[in-house]
Amino acid sequence: MATQGLVIINTGHGKGKTTAALGQALRAAGQGLKVCIIQFIKGQAKTGEALALATDFPGQIELHLAGTGFTWQQDMETVKAAALAGWQLAREKILSDAYDLIVLDELTYLIGFGIVSEEEVIGLLRKRPKRLHLVITGRDASPRLIDYADLVTEMRVIKHPFQKGIKAQKGIEF
Ligand code: ATP
Ligand code: MG
Repeated sequence: MATQGLVIINTGHGKGKTTAALGQALRAAGQGLKVCIIQFIKGQAKTGEALALATDFPGQIELHLAGTGFTWQQDMETVKAAALAGWQLAREKILSDAYDLIVLDELTYLIGFGIVSEEEVIGLLRKRPKRLHLVITGRDASPRLIDYADLVTEMRVIKHPFQKGIKAQKGIEF
């Protein structure tokens, strides 16, 4: 049976969007699928996933960082240029037909900031190879993107340690 590529969105204000996408990548890799992950906006090199993927899964899970660090420490033009370069890379990777699963981590912010239009994103999703699964993460996924997707999950905050003033923990948050 031919593979039916799914468009999967992890959105909402609760924790778990990126980690769920990474879990999906791990599961796919275990089944022999070729995976590409592009992380927009944040793009710190020393996250647990970047460290793990630098040594494990060579040739099977690719990770590309298309961010400049935290947005409030950067001028908007720098953030925008990095995001646009990441978007160009995403376009090439998607159209290459060399992958079974592509994760576009924090892509929703590109639409939110007006860096890429909703139409452009959906246009590319429509043109993707039929077998390609795509996972998109980020808060506030736009209505048309949600409408186009096959699988949408909203992470909702019930409690977060940040509310108690507990700082980000290595291996949990990064
Ligand atoms: P993760 O990468 O842990 O799966 P995420 O992708 O759902 O989280 P993002 O919005 O990308 O969340 O933000 C990443 C960071 O922000 C993580 O360190 C996460 O713990 C933290 N975070 C997520 N939700 C909240 C929240 N409601 N309050 C405070 N911090 C949060
Ligand atoms: Mg995230």
